Amino acid sequence: MTSPVWHPFTQHGLNEDIPRVVRAEGAALYTDDGRRFVDAISSWWVTTHGHCHPRIMAAIREQTNHLDQLIFAGWTHAPAEALARDLFEITPAPLQHVFFSDSGSTSVEVALKMALGYWLNRGEPRHRIAVMEHSYHGDTIGAMSVGERGVYNRAYQPLLFDVDTIPFPAADGEAAIAALERLCAQDPPAALIVEPLILGAGGMLIYPPHVLKALRDICAREGVLFIADEVMTGWGRTGTLFACEQAGIAPDIMCLSKGLTGGAVPLAVTLATRDIFDAHRSEDRGKMFFHSSSYTANPIACAAANANLAIWREEPVRKRILDLTYRQTKRLNALDHSAIVNKRQLGTITAMEFVDPYGDYLSAMAPALGRFFRGRGLLLRPMGNTVYVMPPYCIDDADLDAIYDAILAAAREVAI
Ligand code: PMP
Repeated sequence: MTSPVWHPFTQHGLNEDIPRVVRAEGAALYTDDGRRFVDAISSWWVTTHGHCHPRIMAAIREQTNHLDQLIFAGWTHAPAEALARDLFEITPAPLQHVFFSDSGSTSVEVALKMALGYWLNRGEPRHRIAVMEHSYHGDTIGAMSVGERGVYNRAYQPLLFDVDTIPFPAADGEAAIAALERLCAQDPPAALIVEPLILGAGGMLIYPPHVLKALRDICAREGVLFIADEVMTGWGRTGTLFACEQAGIAPDIMCLSKGLTGGAVPLAVTLATRDIFDAHRSEDRGKMFFHSSSYTANPIACAAANANLAIWREEPVRKRILDLTYRQTKRLNALDHSAIVNKRQLGTITAMEFVDPYGDYLSAMAPALGRFFRGRGLLLRPMGNTVYVMPPYCIDDADLDAIYDAILAAAREVAI
């Protein structure tokens, strides 16, 4: 039977097997034909504590008894108010206002619009955004504009706005720092947007905290807004609750999504400083923040996020993250094959390249590896020839072993 469903980032012309999942628990997915898959990439980096965490599921069920959905323009509800208050307990102190939306891309669009609105409402319009080479911030037009140009957005490039790009901070980060200094001296941008410490979709590229801090300090000194896109890095992935903590920095704007609800339902927030909020606060209606989406701060999603925050407060999540980090290190170190190069790790994330003479995103190796891993009961989806492991924090030793055994087997059987 052919399905009318059009899947994201899926080439239907290749007629690949599309597993039909009926149930999920912890780090495991179960299909209608009785197969079990280990979710080695947390279902696109969202599932933090594990699938169907009982407290999050219960919070969703409980909220459905009371309030399903509410317009959020000029109306409010308890789950959103509680979530906003509790977020301030765990995010950097200067962030004092929270704007809700429903996906990582939208949280980035909101961040960019906040930055431009801030400068316009102050009477000092600035229109340019500075970005880091190889970044990814989402797939809507604005989010694509501040991301790397490549095969994924080739068709839409005429619509994307121009940005100022600083190099990815290789080695000591001097070139990136110098480029930002130059940019600020010539024509200060409205904002710099970065993925702190690790560029996810750009290929799990890691750079050190001192470079992140240097970039943040330049922005503070030059009056350029600093946007931290923690959509992927947030909620413990890099070893700390937020990656910015490792550099000891507070951004002016921070984007969160994915693990905000433990990965159960869609929700995003864009946190901003009082200055940015105040720039929009006025008796002039023309200065309000013009952004909304229908499901902004959906009460059921907020209830899931409140349960996630309670899990962080009350369960040993940090210990689980430390433990997973250690177990990941052990297995990555033991992975020894000439087809596997550039092994690296940040917190709970490991990544490596499979040697591939045609190594770009469309390399034939990615679907071949994907098929190989699926055949071994794994959801492990390489990006080009980059293989990475980003499991839910609850994954057990046997499942983690299965992932690394399969990677080694792939190096022997699939690699060129
Ligand atoms: N920013 C980053 C750093 C991301 O990794 C992603 C998604 N992978 C996004 C933004 C976009 O999030 P979403 O897919 O929820 O729109």
